[in-house]
Amino acid sequence: MEPQQTKTPRTAASGAQPWTSHVLHRSLLKQPQTVASASGSYVTLGSGHRILDGCTGAGVAIIGHGNKDVQAAVMKQMSTVSYAHTLAFTTDSAEDLADMLLEGRPYGLCKAYFVCSGSEATDSALKLARQYHVENGQAGRTRLVARRQAYHGNTIGAMSVGSNLARKAPYEGALLLDNVTHVSPTYGYRGQPDGETEEAYAERLVDELDAELQSLGPETVMAFIAEPVGGATAGCITAPRGYFAGVRRVCDKHGVLLILDEVMCGGGRTGSYFAFAQEGDVGPDLVTLGKGLGGGYAPIAGVLAHERVVDVLRRGTGTFVHGHTYQAHPVSCAAALAVQKVLRRDDLVSQCAAKGAALEASLRSALGGRRHVGDVRGRGLFWALEFVQDRASKRPFAPAVRFATRVRDEAQALGLAVYPGTGTADGLSGDHVILAPPLNISGEDLALLVKLLEEAYGRVEREVEQAEQAEQAEQALAVWAARARGEDG
Ligand SMILES: *Cc1c(COP(=O)(O)O)cnc(C)c1O
Repeated sequence: MEPQQTKTPRTAASGAQPWTSHVLHRSLLKQPQTVASASGSYVTLGSGHRILDGCTGAGVAIIGHGNKDVQAAVMKQMSTVSYAHTLAFTTDSAEDLADMLLEGRPYGLCKAYFVCSGSEATDSALKLARQYHVENGQAGRTRLVARRQAYHGNTIGAMSVGSNLARKAPYEGALLLDNVTHVSPTYGYRGQPDGETEEAYAERLVDELDAELQSLGPETVMAFIAEPVGGATAGCITAPRGYFAGVRRVCDKHGVLLILDEVMCGGGRTGSYFAFAQEGDVGPDLVTLGKGLGGGYAPIAGVLAHERVVDVLRRGTGTFVHGHTYQAHPVSCAAALAVQKVLRRDDLVSQCAAKGAALEASLRSALGGRRHVGDVRGRGLFWALEFVQDRASKRPFAPAVRFATRVRDEAQALGLAVYPGTGTADGLSGDHVILAPPLNISGEDLALLVKLLEEAYGRVEREVEQAEQAEQAEQALAVWAARARGEDG
């Protein structure tokens, strides 16, 4: 008989080291901690440490972890049809999911294209936009316009339209599209001077987009892509009133398609199913969904297309020249469908709006006035704190201080997960943490979230202050020593 292979559990306590893991982790130098179980708003590590999931990864687990209805739906799908290739077949779970999302043709959206990640959704939307123009007799439209401080994913197309500089730098000159230009984000904290009204700020940004399109030659641009509420790169930036309606008008004027990336902010996260629904008269031509769509239960994302885009393809070649082996995967679709049913049954989207107001109020009162909290911003259950060294000048910390990462580390030690981001201010410096708890988080846990975050922030604030004091003392000592030497010499 073969000897039974013994396997030591990979807990932090068992001393797992990065060089013994066969997984290429995000860091080659540090082994991440193992998650042993997760339920509701909590994650439990192999060490037994229990963590309140204040960010659900990156705003993913929208109905929390371990939901029994989703588990049952996945098991049922697994035992009925576990895979069907979309070249020849469809499945009830894919059809039902699309029916649910597009029931009543919301905003003229009429078709759903399901893929496995937000990045694939971005790339698929870009390709749909391009194919639309080609079939519409405007093959000269080859350029894309996006915004600075945006995140649209990590595949080559998505990375190219995004502007997370740190994630792009190594690929400059080799794996980035050169037909993309960027305009200003809706980043009021840094972009709207005192004295400029919200409407004037919106108008100025819309004019900037218009001018960019004019200078490129509007007949050369295929699409403008933007996140209605910005996610990972700048941290929950919202648009000034009237901005997106203005963007829609400018896009229409120039025949440019409007792609709204709701991979992070969509699916109910901001208190309405689509984040753009809170922006006035803005129907996108293409909108992407991702993180909250599958709620973490299965890898799934999607592109929803407006009928005017679909009609051009239908009357033209009749096919979208694209495809993936695992697109519209039946188990992923079943998981996402079950997540959508829980959202509706438990009325979680309108609850999100109410809980969000409570979260905003307690964040502002606990942290809004602190020395290094420059801005508190967001919508629904999607909030960010931007940290600065100096509130008056809004000067960010030097990246080496690692302020946001340290807040994350302290929070995790205290039993709270938050999502840190750097490069907030300009792509290189700046710090924020994002909060994106499950929409069904309890009021008690929401209060605990703010309390633990306040404590974690306080620890880092104290450390930074002590380091400053030590540095000042050292400088004073150096001046004194130099003076003393001067006197001696
Ligand atoms: C996360 C994200 C993506 C990329 O999704 P992945 O599933 O990580 O590929 C795209 N756009 C936005 C706005 C995102 O937040």
